Amino acid sequence: MILYILVNNYNLIMNGGTNMENLPNCPKCNSEYTYEDGSLLVCPECAYEWNPEDLAEKEVVIKDVNGNVLNDGDSVTVVKDLKVKGSSSSIKIGTKVKSIRLVPDAADGHDIECKIDGFGAMKLKSSVVKKA
Ligand SMILES: [Zn+2]
Repeated sequence: MILYILVNNYNLIMNGGTNMENLPNCPKCNSEYTYEDGSLLVCPECAYEWNPEDLAEKEVVIKDVNGNVLNDGDSVTVVKDLKVKGSSSSIKIGTKVKSIRLVPDAADGHDIECKIDGFGAMKLKSSVVKKA
């Protein structure tokens, strides 16, 4: 009986989730045109994806070395020389990085994805950049 109730509640949640009018606005840009992709919600305007179950627990804020809040699409400047794995060259202090993408749940602490000229796709820690 207990099992039955749990399953039933689960179905209610899932059914509620398929109703477009009940989807929350994008937590990043407040767009109302969010849609579901599996268990994730996706914003078509800023490309943010999130799990609605995570959202209630924590609002992730990623800050640069100076404590300024970073957002997807920001441009930043690298504040220290960074060695690059598999490369003999390093990313120099002062390197400008455009259109960063934040990775709030990064397990290894590299919470910024970006492309750097001459290096390609890279992951950086927010502690080594400042908002440009
Ligand atoms: Zn958005």
